[in-house]
Amino acid sequence: MELGLAVNSKINYNYNSLRLTQSRIDYGMLTVPRSLLFLFPNYSADISVFFNNSKNAQKKKFVVSEKNKEARIYGLSNWLKINKITPNDEIVIQVIDIKELLYRFIIEKKFVQEIIKYENKLDTVKNEEFANKYLKKIADINAVDEYNSSISQFIRLSKKGVPDRDLSEIRKNTKKSLVPVHFRVLLENIYKGRCQICNFSFLKKDGRPYFELHHILPNLAEHPKNICLVCANCHKQFTYAKVEHNFVDGWLSNVVFNDKNYKVKQIIHSLENINFYKNVYF
Ligand SMILES: [Zn+2]
Repeated sequence: MELGLAVNSKINYNYNSLRLTQSRIDYGMLTVPRSLLFLFPNYSADISVFFNNSKNAQKKKFVVSEKNKEARIYGLSNWLKINKITPNDEIVIQVIDIKELLYRFIIEKKFVQEIIKYENKLDTVKNEEFANKYLKKIADINAVDEYNSSISQFIRLSKKGVPDRDLSEIRKNTKKSLVPVHFRVLLENIYKGRCQICNFSFLKKDGRPYFELHHILPNLAEHPKNICLVCANCHKQFTYAKVEHNFVDGWLSNVVFNDKNYKVKQIIHSLENINFYKNVYF
């Protein structure tokens, strides 16, 4: 059996997996190997655990074994039984608050299903209120804040291929195609309305920042790599000035307007760790 540990971090989907024996399941016990002890206290204690979506935490015994340099969590029989855990299942263990010794254990299948459900809703959302609601849900499931959740969703979307833009649609409507709601909300959350080119921003009467979204290459469709958040002034320069683009890994990194060079702010380049990974421990 594998156990997944979701670590509070900048990016969702960072979690480590443990493997466990049937006999330990029978004992209602989880073993935490040495490599993952940093998630737990370095002394034996009662820890508080939320199971699945429960709002009430239960106290469980966490015991450090000096000899084996590992630790054990006892008293999980009921939960393992109710969820019919087999050696093919995984369990995600989230660190909610390491000081308060607060954790959440979730069946990995359910954890992933829940996130995918809200990601699919986010990708097709039609209004900003719901986009923010789904982002909050994803943030809660991952035990991260909404800012970090927005970044991880933005990175997820950036890993898809850049689709061609349906230019016939734009010609038909005569208006420019609208940028999908979730891209607009993610960019606003990440850059707080500050122009990625010149950093300018101003607040509208409703207290929210004014910004525009620019399609970098007009023949390509909406994609994190092909949209940038800009002020009205930079947007006009893209249209009317002499423009030179420079890209790094498909991300616009520098832009030159009439010989004036601007470094483009890209969140992807300011993150230290942008891996979506899952490690398996034995
Ligand atoms: Zn600007």
